[in-house]
Amino acid sequence: MAQIRVENLRKSFDQFTAVAGSNFTIDDGTFFAMLGPSGCGKTTTLRMIAGLELPTAGRILLDDADVTALPASARDIAFVFQLFALYPHMNVRQNIGFPLRCQNHPRAEIKRAVEEAARLLRIDHLLDRRVGGLSGGDRQRVALGRAIVRRPKAFLMDEPLGALDSEFRRLMCGELRELHDRIDATTVYITHDQLEAMAMADCIAIMNGGRVEQIGAPQEIYDRPKTMFVADFIGAPPMSFLDVHTALRRGDRVIRIDGVPVDMPELFEDRAESRFALGVRPENVSFADASDLRGRVIGAEYLGTTQIVTVTTASGQLKARLPSGEPIQVGETVGLKLRPDRLSLFDTASGLALSSALYAGGHGG
Ligand code: ATP
Repeated sequence: MAQIRVENLRKSFDQFTAVAGSNFTIDDGTFFAMLGPSGCGKTTTLRMIAGLELPTAGRILLDDADVTALPASARDIAFVFQLFALYPHMNVRQNIGFPLRCQNHPRAEIKRAVEEAARLLRIDHLLDRRVGGLSGGDRQRVALGRAIVRRPKAFLMDEPLGALDSEFRRLMCGELRELHDRIDATTVYITHDQLEAMAMADCIAIMNGGRVEQIGAPQEIYDRPKTMFVADFIGAPPMSFLDVHTALRRGDRVIRIDGVPVDMPELFEDRAESRFALGVRPENVSFADASDLRGRVIGAEYLGTTQIVTVTTASGQLKARLPSGEPIQVGETVGLKLRPDRLSLFDTASGLALSSALYAGGHGG
């Protein structure tokens, strides 16, 4: 399989910039997800990697070879679309074997490769069936079979599960990841579903407005978002933000919210007085009678084992994930405790995390 590297990759359509200078390396064997809202440039990036779209600027390297100007057919990359058109008049065996037949491989080799792909996908019992009568999931497996049969250097998948219902999506997510591991693939997978990306990927790139906002392992992105956009996009519910207007001093371990001192990790830089946003995930908020940081409960959403409680404070709203057995009264005033080592601090004007300040010692940057 292959390493994929993109360098300063840009794509403009007339005056509109769809991809604004991306840089990343996808290591051999990685399951890499590109996640972001509709229109953020995911498909355009993938199409450039596939060779279906020529970049306006920048380079694409496949195992260190510059493939930027090569057509798709010369890249040895398989592309799986959401609406993958199978040939309805052919059976499963003929559909899967199609790419090898086009390349005039010997019949015996095609038979062996098709049967191996079908076994990997657990559709070997369907090989002689017409694709027309197959379920959505089996059709998707046939499409994957057609992609893996020629063992390309990398798989590019653009929302391949988008057309499936949610229960089936979860099942196919597990199968896709398992397939990736079994054939030791390099996979680039586009989705706008954060749960799908978090569950499947080794590494996620979060895109927004043509730019890559952050690249990292799912937990790193969840725990240490580099921007307010990422903090807000990842997590259900997303990170809550409290307004802070203050100056920051190197060595500070306390920040004042509503005049109440709140512990946080030591700061490693000075900042002039400005507006900041203190970010906290719902599971890092608890209720504590003795706390001077007070808020009023304005809603509670029951989720089975937990509940999401919305509290309003003088510095903004935050959400707490509490055990569902904890009695909550809408309208009551509660004390709030924030887990200090899990707080994020953002510069509100730039939206950037002061991660180097909060997470010194190898976690920041
Ligand atoms: P989605 O999840 O909706 O597919 P996306 O993140 O994949 O979104 P892209 O399809 O890459 O986004 O599109 C990025 C932007 O570029 C969009 O605003 C889109 O309208 C624009 N765009 C894409 N292709 C073209 C084109 N051929 N001509 C003009 N604009 C285009």
